[in-house]
Amino acid sequence: MSDTVPSLYRGRFAPSPTGRLHAGSLVAALGSWLLARHHDGTWLVRVEDLDPPREVPGVAQQQLATLAAFGLVSDEPVIWQSTRHDAYADALSRLLDDGSAFECRCSRSDLAAVGGIHRTCVASDRTRPPAVRLRVPDGTRIAFHDGLQGEVVQDVDREVGDVVLRRADGYWAYQLAVVVDDAAQGITDIVRGADLLDSTPRQILLQRAL
Ligand code: GLU
Repeated sequence: MSDTVPSLYRGRFAPSPTGRLHAGSLVAALGSWLLARHHDGTWLVRVEDLDPPREVPGVAQQQLATLAAFGLVSDEPVIWQSTRHDAYADALSRLLDDGSAFECRCSRSDLAAVGGIHRTCVASDRTRPPAVRLRVPDGTRIAFHDGLQGEVVQDVDREVGDVVLRRADGYWAYQLAVVVDDAAQGITDIVRGADLLDSTPRQILLQRAL
């Protein structure tokens, strides 16, 4: 019997089934798996199938098979985001109830003049279906430490604006789903592509709001 304390490290790889895994995705998957193993932790796979118009039928299974071919198999049952609508709806209603989130009818073209950064509603058509956004107060600066990039700082109000949580077309935004699921799965550490580096501050903000 081992007398070591069980590791609390929980990592994950969370592909969107929009195309076959490319080499960069596999590097991220392998990196997250290696770190989880290094820490004697748990490694999970989550299928982020929340955007049907962008998904390619059969690709999710193909991605899982590709991972398995490299020996990368989830330590717990794979979670499919398409089965998690109730959890996202619950989180969204909590944010709406406490005033952290609000309905917004601004279109992309309404926001073009401000570079797409939402600070206040300027909707020209008040009848279109609303999106729901997280309110980002003025002066919201988030800093975090990334293992490769070092200190990362973002002024979320000026650089991102109020964050979409549910899109006007009714689909859940990646930002909401990823935060709800990382919390539900007890994820402690995230290894992913640098293209997502600038999403981390808004996800930290949302974690705090929830
Ligand atoms: N599903 C996202 C993607 O494939 C990644 C999510 C994440 O790692 O946070 O780009």
